Amino acid sequence: MDAIQIIEKKRDGLALCAEEIAFMVSGYAEDRIPDYQAAAWAMAIYFRGMTAQETVDLTMAMVRSGSTIDLSPIGSTVVDKHSTGGVGDKTTLVVAPMVSAVGLPVAKMSGRGLGFSGGTLDKLESIPGYRTRLSMAEFYDVVQKSGIAVIGQTKDLAPADGKLYALRDVTGTVPSLPLIASSIMSKKIAGGADAIVLDVKVGRGAFMSTLEEARELAQRMIAIGQSVGRRVTAVLSGMNRPLGRAVGNSLEVIEAIELLKGRGPEDLREHCMAVAAEMVLLGRPDIDLAGARARLQAALVAGEALACFARWIRGQGGDAAVIEDYGRLPCAPVQHAIAARASGYVSSLDARAFGVASVELGAGRHTKDDQIDPSVGILLNVTIGDYVERGAPMMTVHAKSRESAEAVEQQLLEACVISPKRPAARPVIEDIIRDPSV
Ligand code: URA
Repeated sequence: MDAIQIIEKKRDGLALCAEEIAFMVSGYAEDRIPDYQAAAWAMAIYFRGMTAQETVDLTMAMVRSGSTIDLSPIGSTVVDKHSTGGVGDKTTLVVAPMVSAVGLPVAKMSGRGLGFSGGTLDKLESIPGYRTRLSMAEFYDVVQKSGIAVIGQTKDLAPADGKLYALRDVTGTVPSLPLIASSIMSKKIAGGADAIVLDVKVGRGAFMSTLEEARELAQRMIAIGQSVGRRVTAVLSGMNRPLGRAVGNSLEVIEAIELLKGRGPEDLREHCMAVAAEMVLLGRPDIDLAGARARLQAALVAGEALACFARWIRGQGGDAAVIEDYGRLPCAPVQHAIAARASGYVSSLDARAFGVASVELGAGRHTKDDQIDPSVGILLNVTIGDYVERGAPMMTVHAKSRESAEAVEQQLLEACVISPKRPAARPVIEDIIRDPSV
């Protein structure tokens, strides 16, 4: 087989067979195929797309490039969740303890922030002592004792995806439906979950900017799951504005704890409830949607979800006293309020601009080796549809210095559009595409 012929075949719009795809994937992962040929192939896929069968073959070739995790020692159905990435997305921190409180174990690998979108691992690491690296034996042990373990992805899980993703990141080939679908699903399948809830974000602060694209991505991922016997449900949710009111690692941990205490912003509560309910539907076929929501709500009200969160954090070496004392979390030295420049209704809060500003403050990385600052970020006082008076504080920037706060002030002001007319309300959840078994 020859890489040039395979690249040309895809360039000319023809479908590749499983052997050709496996040849390219293993060849690239094992350094037999150079970056420039893999990049040309990715670009040909970007322009020509892939059939459903090619997407499955690509996914499974990436799964086979490394080891897979066997979650059977956990002894019951494990339902994973995955977000395609957003701004202010602290859903895992809330949803894992909610579903654990209704008896579903959570054994999960999460990622770090990527570009302007945050990562669960970075948020968890802002909790003093929390260990994101555990041996597999420790991982099973924590799930069994605490009900939840969330760790970083091991390097030998779908390594071909890791290498190809890094190449796509610098060759303009990230936003391709088959490449995104296979990249996400290869990690989820290798991660061993029986069922997966995909939180597919759509809007300015997401990879998919339209609902149609997000639906197509969701359908591709569901089809990949079905072809290998994994049940997959996709929740499509808006990412034009940040989720909740906190953007930045320790600020988001605080907001997640507030949710578990029965407080916190409405959009985040609704979003977490929808994702958690879909996880329960996949993991507990004996419970219907109304029953799932009622049990999750009861677990929140009774403080059971909060207790699960505490057990989880303690289980991974973290300081669970942060739950009662937020002062134990990293706190930025400067808190700089930004006031509204006009009176009117908040009609848009550009999620991408908030994500970019938080990276500039130090909450995310410009290069993969950058150290992040867990204390910095932005806390909004307003949400879409709120009326603000000129001069009223709209948000607080948490920064390491006054200069760094002032450096993002203008872009944050531009990210908030204030209009004389109240905007139409948009639903938090745009659509849910359920696994046919549900
Ligand atoms: N997240 C991934 O893991 N892969 C992609 O290609 C895009 C988002």
